[in-house]
Amino acid sequence: MTTSRTVLVTGGNRGIGAAIAARLVAEGHRVAVTARSGEGPEGTLTVRAEMTDAASIDAAFARVEQELGPVEVIVSNAGITRDTLLLRMSEDDFTEVVDTNLTGTFRVVKRAAKGLLKGRFGRVILISSVVALYGSPGQINYSSSKAALVGFARSLTRELGSRGITANVIAPGFIETDMTAALPEEQQQAYLASIPAGRFGRVDEIAATAAWLAGDDAAYISGAVIPVDGGLGMGH
Ligand code: NDP
Repeated sequence: MTTSRTVLVTGGNRGIGAAIAARLVAEGHRVAVTARSGEGPEGTLTVRAEMTDAASIDAAFARVEQELGPVEVIVSNAGITRDTLLLRMSEDDFTEVVDTNLTGTFRVVKRAAKGLLKGRFGRVILISSVVALYGSPGQINYSSSKAALVGFARSLTRELGSRGITANVIAPGFIETDMTAALPEEQQQAYLASIPAGRFGRVDEIAATAAWLAGDDAAYISGAVIPVDGGLGMGH
């Protein structure tokens, strides 16, 4: 058994975030999720938050703190894609993705930081992507936002590492969710052909890694980028 913690997962109403939240509930943590629509899995507290709006994130934290106590583990998972080739990519396509995936993470972690410092404990888990370091045509906005999370986690580790706070990045490969179901069949088959494991990943495989990072066994791991990608991005 690992120590029970208060956890906030962003974007926990579906996909990878919902799987992470469910797994953390099963491991005995007190889990809240942010959602713009729908609800988190059974056993979680759902709070509304929009990642591009600091005030809504602040309100979500206040509610979680009131109902579950100070947040000790943050899983920054909410994210979007706006795929298109560079020559067709508008500035809005670029900045919307960065605003949600990167600046959204900044807003969430900044709001959490004071509480983590006060409690002298924290686990910050950032959901990046294999394409952060591998690259992907049509995803200049998305891969840039996800690559930046590596610098984020490593700088955070150097700032707060001496206070019992760790910050790590999970880099999922191709995981079966709404996000990847939206890709054209041709592109899905091309990915499949390049994955050494010969299959797409499952949300519970990301959830297991997040649960491990949140648990007592991962206390001395910080600034790491952990690929969960069936070998797709080897060499990171
Ligand atoms: P989904 O598209 O299934 O879910 C995205 C989640 O993010 C939803 O809960 C959504 O909320 C939330 N979200 C998006 N934008 C905002 C916003 N502006 N404010 C608040 N919440 C928001 O994605 P996945 O589960 O597939 O992906 C989860 C994370 O994992 C993402 O960061 C993604 O980039 C990353 N990832 C996914 C991979 C995959 O293969 N699926 C591979 C590598 C990384 P709502 O339902 O309200 O829209």
